[in-house]
Amino acid sequence: MGKRKKIAERVTSLMDKPEMIRNIGIVAHIDHGKTTLSDNLLAGSGMISMELAGKQLFMDFDELEQARGITIDAANVSMVHEYQGKEYLINMIDTPGHVDFGGDVTRAMRAVDGAVVVVDAVEGAMPQTETVLRQALKENVHPVLFVNKVDRLLNELKVDKQEMQLRLGKLIDNINKLIRGMNEEKYKAGWRVDASAGSVAFGSALYNWAISVPQMKSTGIGFGEVYDYCQVGDMKTLAQKCPLYLAVNDMVIRFLPSPLKAQKERVGVIWHGDKTSKLYKSMEGCDPHGPIAFMVTDISVDPHAGEVATGRLFSGTLERGMELFISGVAKSNRVQQTGIFMGADRVEVEKIPAGNIAAVTGLRDAYVGSTVSSNKEATPFEDIKHVSEPVVTVA
Ligand code: GDP
Repeated sequence: MGKRKKIAERVTSLMDKPEMIRNIGIVAHIDHGKTTLSDNLLAGSGMISMELAGKQLFMDFDELEQARGITIDAANVSMVHEYQGKEYLINMIDTPGHVDFGGDVTRAMRAVDGAVVVVDAVEGAMPQTETVLRQALKENVHPVLFVNKVDRLLNELKVDKQEMQLRLGKLIDNINKLIRGMNEEKYKAGWRVDASAGSVAFGSALYNWAISVPQMKSTGIGFGEVYDYCQVGDMKTLAQKCPLYLAVNDMVIRFLPSPLKAQKERVGVIWHGDKTSKLYKSMEGCDPHGPIAFMVTDISVDPHAGEVATGRLFSGTLERGMELFISGVAKSNRVQQTGIFMGADRVEVEKIPAGNIAAVTGLRDAYVGSTVSSNKEATPFEDIKHVSEPVVTVA
């Protein structure tokens, strides 16, 4: 059996356990290292080799993207991560980091419950960092922080140990100030990032290592050790002792909510229909036996299967042959295939239960932002709005 097929089997075995799922997006200002970080996570899941992480730019599969060197199309991948002896399913969405593609970031935010905000240790928070944070808070998506390019502090800025920690502390303070400024209520309710609790990780995606305060005991690598290894240029040992994917995935599992928890908080924010209805209760409870409620966040074209609608399933179980209604369209569409994404590849799976990111073919009338339901009269989700500049509705 192929490696990917094996991974796909492990993924499907976790799809119907919503408490073991994390739907996440990686968001960043351009060039802060989102793609390199995504590669590390893919390598950790066995999807690409560790040596290639940071070099292969796996998520940027479009030729256009390769040519331009920036990520344009949001791509998805599902992977399995073991934390404290239990397997978890992480559905990761890659999001564009360029200012022109704000609309795509917005769509991705609708599909996820948590965001890993990547910030360059030297540059700190930049305008796009602010935009993606604001969008996350608006969509009720929890943030954790990854401070990337820590190697630059030493190799380029030549800071000493104390200065390194001071700068990192200041960067975290700035992020928390932004969160507080955007939403004081959420800030007070624990949405701030906290290095000592573990909702911040520090590392270097290019050199495949990362640390977080709670992990310092088990790895034996703290800020002092990081400083010493960087000083002598021994990144290999750091990558072995504290691989990036472990620090980041552990942080994701610990601090970002499962769909079971998240949908309770989020459904009321993104759907304004009848709160006593069966549909609302089913979405709130992430019920795989309820009516279908699927929000389309991306449409791509597969040379063989045609249009693929990717999105978040909030309620019900998607299966081939289902007749479903697209918001604003009178006639129904029949589901042809249901699948998950593993980088550029779509892997067909028989059923997709509530709480997952699904790739569906056959929904010919769907567009980005469509609500897909089993009930023709179902209230659609709130329009996806991009909030950085003048608020526009993404059609
Ligand atoms: P994105 O635009 O956020 O996806 O950023 P990329 O992942 O494409 O990274 C932008 C540039 O920063 C590339 O040249 C990377 O090799 C480099 N880079 C990424 N992570 C690190 C890091 O930890 N340290 C250093 N020094 N460079 C990095």
